[in-house]
Amino acid sequence: MAPSLDLVVTAVATQLMAADTNTAAALSQCILHDLVAVFDVDASFLRHNDHDARVTKLVAEWPPRHDIPDPDPLGDVAFENADPVFAILEHLTEPIVIRPDPITEEYGDRVERANGIPVISITTAPLLAHGVTTGALGFIKFDDRDWTTEELNAVQAIASMFAQLQGRLIAEDRLRFLADHDDLTNLYNRRALIGHLDGRLGAGQPGPVSVLLLDLDRLKTLNDYLGHGSGDKFIQVAAERLRDSLGDSCVVGRLGGDEFVVIPVKPMDTDDAETLADRLRHEVNGGVAVGGEVIKRTVSIGVATGAPGIDSASEVIQRADEALLDAKKAGGDRITVYSQEMFARQSLRTDVELHLQQGIEDDALTLHYLPEVDLRTGQILAVEALVRWLHPTRGLLSPDAFIGVAESINLAGELGRWVLRTACAQWAEWRAEGVHPSLTLRVNVSPAQLVTANFADEVSHILDEFLMPAPALCLEITESVFQDVEVTRKGLLAVQDLGVKLAIDDFGTGYSSLAYLKSLPVDTIKIDKGFVLRLAEDEGDRAIVRSTIGLAEAFQLEVVAEGVETTTAADLLLQYGCHRAQGFLLSRPIDRVAAKALLKHGRIDDWPPK
Ligand code: C2E
Ligand code: CA
Ligand code: CA
Repeated sequence: MAPSLDLVVTAVATQLMAADTNTAAALSQCILHDLVAVFDVDASFLRHNDHDARVTKLVAEWPPRHDIPDPDPLGDVAFENADPVFAILEHLTEPIVIRPDPITEEYGDRVERANGIPVISITTAPLLAHGVTTGALGFIKFDDRDWTTEELNAVQAIASMFAQLQGRLIAEDRLRFLADHDDLTNLYNRRALIGHLDGRLGAGQPGPVSVLLLDLDRLKTLNDYLGHGSGDKFIQVAAERLRDSLGDSCVVGRLGGDEFVVIPVKPMDTDDAETLADRLRHEVNGGVAVGGEVIKRTVSIGVATGAPGIDSASEVIQRADEALLDAKKAGGDRITVYSQEMFARQSLRTDVELHLQQGIEDDALTLHYLPEVDLRTGQILAVEALVRWLHPTRGLLSPDAFIGVAESINLAGELGRWVLRTACAQWAEWRAEGVHPSLTLRVNVSPAQLVTANFADEVSHILDEFLMPAPALCLEITESVFQDVEVTRKGLLAVQDLGVKLAIDDFGTGYSSLAYLKSLPVDTIKIDKGFVLRLAEDEGDRAIVRSTIGLAEAFQLEVVAEGVETTTAADLLLQYGCHRAQGFLLSRPIDRVAAKALLKHGRIDDWPPK
């Protein structure tokens, strides 16, 4: 190879190193421009083969043609009916030179008709990758031209470098695709979605930006019964339906599991987003053939919008998620739009997450006590400790506002220990003052607490610490917990072994079967206030309460009615055989000072009512 050609090849190599997907075509054109001069030819082209479609595609050419007709006769050329020169490109493996002499007269005529030039010579070198011809580099002289071996070697060397670039760009594209897309569905993945949404929510971008979060209903049961393959199939079909239905109008991705995100590319307000959600709900809903059966799954959709420059991607997705949660809670197969109420709920939850730990440490928690009264005499039989949180900005919070959050952030154990210790300490104080020696103390226990390994040990330590006899303590566990697990039973048995009493709270809400109840180590049933509140009006509730009391008698359990608000309810309960009760008619939850006074007195006033 002549030294100057050597330099040419090296220069091309250096230029191509810098190329990426976006710059490759323009850079190739520049190189062709230089090579046309170097080889003293009139034109040059770079083409890639698409073997699946059996076409050769124009990538770059020099000089660029003006007035290109549509379709471009030199653009995508199908091999099948290409003229001989193009046809050769499909499987070319070595450089070839086509000169006027061997060209058939017919071909010469055709070329002349096309560009008015009678004589033309072409040299072409293949782009090769692993023995496959992936394209061609060609030079055209509108005249006869001889090519030396050195020149042909240089052309082939340059063609090889174009082939390497082509391979590298394909690999890079693939990597980029994999980094941004989900394996199962080829939709965008979480990373890409967040990136896109971040861009859309940048200051100065057009808004509002809508986000639709879709979740297939009850896909888990499908996985459980038909195997994961069928769940995957479902997800793929849903993805396809979304893609087909939305085309380029939306960015569609999968967040994971059976959760999809749709982001309209144009600004869209909540109303339009809801309309879109409604359309998608119907389109995704169709049946899918799985294992010879057609199975249908509905979909739930949460809708939220974000304002560019104000909201972040994760905030908007979180809102859509909150809305989705509501749709799911309401039974699924529906669309929920993020609302003000959800905002309040969410900010309360965030607040609790941030401050509850500190609240426990700072003694910002306090206990109120709800007396349990003998309906026959008005005597106080027990008190139930109910936790409150004096929140720095929100005032006194009821447990419903923070117990759930505490459980979700693993604070239930700590919170529960605080409640149990504080209540037992209070009980010991009352006893020391001689106010009510036979008082039963009831304390609520959350499911998360119960299943911790050393729960019974903790209880035992606290009893020891305050010299409290075990039977004076009754732990209340809500009924829904019992349905679950053997772990619960173990925890309960360990506590019962200590001599501590156990109550099923909110009885009637968890559908415990009779047989199940019999096998549990419980002493007391507390009838849920939901049945007691409307006892006077509701025949159905009366039936449930009557049979629950009967059940308790049959199993020799104590029974307590919650939520007694009227004298009629109190009368009916007595009539059915239940004399233990709590409720606003008897007493509201009271603080420790009021509780001490009441316990000293031993009974509520003005009872029984006249
Ligand atoms: P619960 O154990 O069923 O407690 C009874 C709830 O019903 C209390 O609400 C009480 O104020 C209310 N209540 C009592 N009588 C009446 C009535 O006549 N009418 C009406 N409408 N309501 C009445 P509170 O204090 O807001 O407690 C709510 C729930 O929070 C409790 O339900 C209990 O499940 C939970 N909880 C309270 N304290 C604790 C605790 O220390 N630990 C755990 N894990 N849960 C607690
Ligand atoms: Ca309770
Ligand atoms: Ca209850």
